[in-house]
Amino acid sequence: MRPLEHEMDRRSLLRTAGVAAFTGMVPLDAAIAARGGYRSPARWEEGPMRWFQLAFTEDDPGRFDPRFWLDYFREIRADGVCLSAGGGVAFYPTKVPNHGKARGLGEQDPFGTMVKGCKDLGMRVLGRIDTHAMATDVFQAHPEWAACTADGEPRKHWTAPDLYLTCPYTDYNFKLMPQVLQEIARNYAVDGYFGNRVNTLGVCYCEGCRTLYHAAAGAEIPTELDTARPEAARYWNWTQSRFLLLNDLWNRIIRATNANGFFVYGTERRGALDYVGKDLGERNPAVFCDRQARSTDQGLFATGSLAWNNGRFAKELRAYMGDKPVSNIISVGVEEEYRWKDSVQNEAEIRIWAHSAIAQGSRPWITKFNAKPFDKRWMPVVSDIYRWLATNERYLRNTGNLATIGMILDPRTAALEGGNKGRAEIELHRFGFYEALLEARLPFDELDISYLDAKQLERFRVLILPNLVRLSDVQCETLRQFVRKGGRIVATHETSLHDENGESRGNFGLADLFGCRFDGKVEERVQNSYLTLRHPSPILAGLEGIPRCIGAVKRVMVTPDGPSEPAPLTLVPSYQDLPMERVFTTTPTTDVPMAFCRNVGSGRVVYLPMDLDRTFGELRDSDHLALLHAMVAWAAGEPAPMRVTGPGIIDMAYWRQAKSVAAHIVNYNNPMTMAGSYREVLPAGPYEVELQLPPGATPVSATLLESGAKVPFERNGQRLKVRVPSVRYHEIVAVDLA
Ligand SMILES: [Zn+2]
Repeated sequence: MRPLEHEMDRRSLLRTAGVAAFTGMVPLDAAIAARGGYRSPARWEEGPMRWFQLAFTEDDPGRFDPRFWLDYFREIRADGVCLSAGGGVAFYPTKVPNHGKARGLGEQDPFGTMVKGCKDLGMRVLGRIDTHAMATDVFQAHPEWAACTADGEPRKHWTAPDLYLTCPYTDYNFKLMPQVLQEIARNYAVDGYFGNRVNTLGVCYCEGCRTLYHAAAGAEIPTELDTARPEAARYWNWTQSRFLLLNDLWNRIIRATNANGFFVYGTERRGALDYVGKDLGERNPAVFCDRQARSTDQGLFATGSLAWNNGRFAKELRAYMGDKPVSNIISVGVEEEYRWKDSVQNEAEIRIWAHSAIAQGSRPWITKFNAKPFDKRWMPVVSDIYRWLATNERYLRNTGNLATIGMILDPRTAALEGGNKGRAEIELHRFGFYEALLEARLPFDELDISYLDAKQLERFRVLILPNLVRLSDVQCETLRQFVRKGGRIVATHETSLHDENGESRGNFGLADLFGCRFDGKVEERVQNSYLTLRHPSPILAGLEGIPRCIGAVKRVMVTPDGPSEPAPLTLVPSYQDLPMERVFTTTPTTDVPMAFCRNVGSGRVVYLPMDLDRTFGELRDSDHLALLHAMVAWAAGEPAPMRVTGPGIIDMAYWRQAKSVAAHIVNYNNPMTMAGSYREVLPAGPYEVELQLPPGATPVSATLLESGAKVPFERNGQRLKVRVPSVRYHEIVAVDLA
């Protein structure tokens, strides 16, 4: 049960402590905002579709062959490149005092050589800036630049004892780096800058930080840093406001030399506390995020073991970036805590991880550390993927996603409500629903909660609210209007119980839509309880063979608002589960509704008080999958814009381009989909693909881009059918429109 009184206390404290000052947006510099955020006036960032990052090691200068790489970039038709420039270690002859240089650099300029070579190839160039560490001599000249422990000791690098970690919130980034950026901008034809490990340090207790934080918050930097603690949340919000200020400062400096230049952090929004999506989406012209490979690491920020996670990460980026370019940074090596940075994965794994994200709208970015590769097995694989993408580029230049289901993404609340311990549990609602939609083959997109407004919702028919605990009154009203205008929502568990500050409302903010009210209690573990499926019901069409299924694990206690339509799902209360002779119940059925499915005006609302989504994320029960599928399908009340029939687990996406539509199928029918790495390609099929064409669109021809075959199509009104005989990794049904 949620300790409401305690929550109230800490939330009152949070407000009185002035945390609100740090939770909203840091306003964009007015001059930059007038130009539409950092979107470059030339919008050059919308050009590159295939990125490559060459990250130098300190022994590269004089020992690597620039021609080898330039020839490879030309071969693979890469059109964007990121090259190590400076930050802690410069790969060009810097004159900025205390800007560290690569060992053995001398007067050589590997960065400059590669910039020129890449520009001659017509590529766009990002300079890679990594500021997280500095050499001992720099530390001795400026001990105040070092990050410090809580007792004020400078922090040495965890793997390189001759390096010190830098404080990202004070002068190293705010005073030294502007000189470095100016130097690079003046001397090299760089289009933009990419920050590696600029904003990932975490807490710092240096003198400069303590002074700044005290001035801003009137408090000491806390030592207990769990995000569920208000003083910690306040600190993490402050670090974010520093990084947003730094972002604005660096962009101003860059733009003073190159009006089309910009800087972006090369890390995603996640930290101890997630950034407000809008703070990033309104600033960044493009994002490039590390999602290098799957991993056995089960940590919160790990890439996880599922092959389709890279597609999820791409959707999460687009949730706050909208139609701006997003890239997942893909490594060709093994990504595990043991850090085999010179490793190479096999072909099948590189392919599935890359295509997982490409299908969901990510522009691939392959990264390679060390310009003297030991093991070149990956090179023909990346070449093959990139050349295929280049050949088919016009079907990948998407102008819009055609999914009509949108899932609202709110990882920040998970951190604030759950803290270090409970956050993953809250996020599992979204991950479970994600997986259910994927398995149910319902194409969907994600939208960051900070963009929850009428305009952003226009493209969606159905919104999924996976345990969105915190919703403001304004957001509740937006959802109410959405439903009134014919929109549909599927909400689970504690959705709308708290306002945007985490204050309990004592009832759902959306109680009128749900058709029930909160009883003040949440059961955190319901054991040996079941759900009765009440047939016949239009909501359960197709599930007639399932009379009863296992219940979910958690339950929000609710009371229906007056007499309602018969519930399609009712509760079988928990009963004894041992000894086996006692495992029976005297109440095999009840009328306690476990799904509230209502027509509201021309809209529809499904509310599930149990955590079916989270339980599905935990257990992957097939009856729960069928139920979640049925609820979303009933809410939609119309066929999905893309339907695929055929075997197994696939991911889908449906996109529009200038003169075509493209339907993507990614083949996850492989024993290594859930963990490990693909060993081989196992083609799956056949599939029948049915597409809803945009209004007024006339199809001319259909081509399968993976197989390379033109295929016949059947047309029935604005629905079009194509047969796909087999999918290796990633088939795209490309339909040219008149
Ligand atoms: Zn500091």
